[in-house]
Formats: sequence, structure tokens, C-alpha cells
Amino acid sequence: MSIVPEAERPNPYSAYGAHGSVLVLNSGSSSLKYQLVNPVGGEAIARGTIERIGESSGIVTHRFAGNTTERELEVPDHGAALRIALELFEEVGPRLADAGIYAVGHRVVHGGELFSRPVVIDDDVVTKIHDLVPLAPLHNPANVQGIEVARDLLPDVPHVAVFDTAFFQSLPEHAYTYAIDREVARAHGVRRYGFHGTSHQYVVGKVARVLGRRVQDLNMIVLHLGNGASASAVRGGVPVDTSMGLTPLEGLVMGTRSGDIDPAVVFHLARNAGMDVDELDTLLNKRSGLKGLAGENDMRELRRLIDAGDDDARLAFDVYIHRLKKYIGAYHAVLGRVDVVAFTAGVGENSAEVRAAVCDGLESLGIDVDETRNAVRGDEPRIISPDWTSTLVMVVPTMEELAIARQCVEAVEGLRPASGITAG
Ligand code: AMP
Repeated sequence: MSIVPEAERPNPYSAYGAHGSVLVLNSGSSSLKYQLVNPVGGEAIARGTIERIGESSGIVTHRFAGNTTERELEVPDHGAALRIALELFEEVGPRLADAGIYAVGHRVVHGGELFSRPVVIDDDVVTKIHDLVPLAPLHNPANVQGIEVARDLLPDVPHVAVFDTAFFQSLPEHAYTYAIDREVARAHGVRRYGFHGTSHQYVVGKVARVLGRRVQDLNMIVLHLGNGASASAVRGGVPVDTSMGLTPLEGLVMGTRSGDIDPAVVFHLARNAGMDVDELDTLLNKRSGLKGLAGENDMRELRRLIDAGDDDARLAFDVYIHRLKKYIGAYHAVLGRVDVVAFTAGVGENSAEVRAAVCDGLESLGIDVDETRNAVRGDEPRIISPDWTSTLVMVVPTMEELAIARQCVEAVEGLRPASGITAG
């Protein structure tokens, strides 16, 4: 298998051209990220971030046509943040009236069992996202707030919710069920949901498109390695397992999250270290992972520390890689045949060292990395395995905003891609 040149790939989105652009919003607890996206060509027309919402001085960054506008000003809440963003579109450009906004796409972290695909938002959808707050207490409240403000300020266009969990709603029961008391689990919605679904789904579609293959014919392991990190096993376009669980805490070692640990660590620390639930939550989500082990959550800094001879940084890297290898082995066993291992997100796309270390010693699984190909940098999907391997190892830059924009068009138009996958 090889990459089909862009010019020879059919663009399944050419029909989306009549629709104008989509404003994609990602509301975090203290930030708002936005991007104005062309769902056909896939380019970001403009993008921005508003950080430190609710603090005395917020930081606003707006990028358009090669220019960056930066401001420091008070942003009391998400309403104010979105108002500032809309003003910047007017002042700096592009004017939204000229760009022709077709829809607003909202990234929503938790869709529970209620949402297995993007939906056009009405009051009932907002209520349901709010009902899911117990499953995502840090994320869903900000998402609801973002939706409410945006519907107020942009009342004339459809708003669409795109859920981070939706792709993984088709996991088989044996993969999403935790082996605990069933009544307790049912009563409290305790099961694997999986996150980063928009990214995993995008990468699966993109791989199929660039290889000129049908997604139904490919088995893949997708490794989304950013500050948060997750792995998925996908058979013929349908996920059969993923590493994140009830929350994004389970699975791989991440920037600040532990990933898998013995659950009894929690009881042990509660009983012996006197830590309460909130302290344990902070420990495992914010003071663990690479940061907990080496004091540094950024992979670039970690590599610098390793080069300077820091033993903690070396151990953190080794733990990170060891966990990844275990997931690749496990997912290989689950899938039986693996056609593609795809690396994506900040670390996956940029760290040749991580990719080489992860694949080192996996030759017997048909997985290997060619040193020269692995060293190539760029924004295009590429193959980094040698020609002899049975499994292609690829780097596939993720574009979550573009995936959200395309899913918006599909939700509003009532379109369903034939494969069920919005291709990259
Ligand atoms: P993301 O969450 O996908 O934005 O990824 C963010 C993470 O990507 C950062 O915390 C870095 O650890 C990592 N990253 C970004 N650029 C590089 C790079 N050139 N080399 C290694 N890691 C990188």
C-alpha cells in the first residue's frame, strides 16, 4: 500500500461547497478556542483562543491571513469571551457576514450513552448535555455554557453538538463493560465511553483516503498522543476497543494523568495518606503522568532533560513507551490483523524519538520504523515504516476542527457517509 497523491484522491466534500464556512467552538473550563473552517478544502480561515476566562486578565489571540492579534483584557465569563471573538472577526477579519457562516459546531466532551452521532442542538439536547454533567463535571458545564451563549449571539444559524465520546458508542459490550457489580455500574453509568473520538475517527477516514482504500477493508491501531493520550483498535472503521474509560484518566501515560493504575492505589492513599476524593482526583489527573514522574509534561522539555542526563526524565520516558507497547500488543491480539498503526496529535506527529522507541522490538508483529522516513517532518500524512513490513506505520496529522465542521454539515443536511466515517 502507498499514498495516493492528493490530486488523484476524489474529494467527497466537493458538494459541501454551497454551505459556506463553519464556526467551530471548543469551550473549556477557563478557555474558549474557535476556528472558522472551510468544510470543503479543509483550511482554517481564522482561528483564536481566549484563555484565563474568569481571571483578572484574560489573554486573547486571533489569527487571520497570516496576522496575529493579541490582547490582554478582562474576560469575566464565556459570554464575554464569545462577544470578544465576534468583535475580532468584525474588526480584524474575516467579517462573518462575508464568510457566510453555515453552522456553529460545538465540541462536547461527554455524550454518555445518549449521543452516538452529532446532533443539531435544540433545548432538549442542551438539557441532556447538562444531565451528563455528573460524568464530566469539569467539561460538560463549560460546553453547555458555550452552547447557550453562542445560540444567543448567533441565533440565525444551526448549532451542532459533536461529542468526543460518540465514535466509541459502537464499542462491543465486552470492551465497554467493567467487571464490577452490574447493578452499581448500571445505576451510575459506569462503563467505558472513550474520548478523543473525533480525532480517532478523522484519522481512520484520512488513512483510508490517502491509501485509496475502503475504510471497511482496514484494521488500524490509532495512537493519539497529545497532552492527553489515547489508543484505539478499529476494525473496518468500527472501534473495537479504546484506552480511555469512564473518564479520560484511564489508559496511556499522559502529560499530567497517570493512565492505568491499580484502583487500590486510591484506597491505599485514602486510608494511609489521609487524602480525600478531591486530592486524589488532582493527584491522578494533574500531578501524575510525565509531570508526576519528571516534573515536566511537555515531551520536548522531557527530551531536553534526558539529553542533559536527568534520570527521572529517562524513567518517565521509559514508562510512557512501555505502556504504549503494551497497548499495541493488546490491540494486535484483539484485531488479529493490523494493517496500519497511525500516530497523531502533538507528540505522535512531532516526536520521531517516541515513534521509534514505541515500535522498537515489534518486528515480530510486522511493525517497524524506517529511520530516514521517520525523520521527515511535515503536515501531510506519511508512511514511516520500511517496505518489507506487513503493517504500515503512519504519521497522520489530526484536524479535529475540520472533522467537527464536516460532521456539522452532515448533521444539518441529514447526510450519513456510506462508511459511517467522515473521511479525512
Ligand atoms: P496536543 O495536546 O495534541 O496539542 O499536544 C501537545 C503536546 O505535544 C505538548 O505537550 C508536547 O509534549 C507535544 N509536542 C509538540 N511539539 C512537539 C515536538 N516537536 N516534539 C515532541 N513533542 C511535541
